[in-house]
Amino acid sequence: MSHGKFASLITCMDGRVQNAGNEFMKKTFNVDYVDVITEPGPNKILSENNLNAIVDNIYKRVDVSVFSHGSDVIAVAGHYDCAGNPVNKETQDIQTANAAKLIKAKFPDKKVIGLWIDKDFKTAEIIYTAE
Ligand SMILES: [Zn+2]
Repeated sequence: MSHGKFASLITCMDGRVQNAGNEFMKKTFNVDYVDVITEPGPNKILSENNLNAIVDNIYKRVDVSVFSHGSDVIAVAGHYDCAGNPVNKETQDIQTANAAKLIKAKFPDKKVIGLWIDKDFKTAEIIYTAE
């Protein structure tokens, strides 16, 4: 059904990080479209891995991106000054890496990466790649 290449991005709902995440995924993975799944502080939510409706709903949306749109790469992002996850970069990077590992376990044949969006809100960097 889909035309063009898709990637999946699980990121914060914070409006400041949207462009950076979207542009990074398009440029880095040469995709036409980025399916964006937002929650406040999703790296924390996924890292905690609770069996709750929010986690379930995040994965349901990733399923659509992967199985209906054919996305081959899934990113989970943390960012500076996150109201939904107000801890420092060090702590967020651990959560992001753990979230990426858990995503990889569900989508073992997909590339899964963890991102950090810094205080300029203009660029994203890969801080973890799940193997
Ligand atoms: Zn945030």
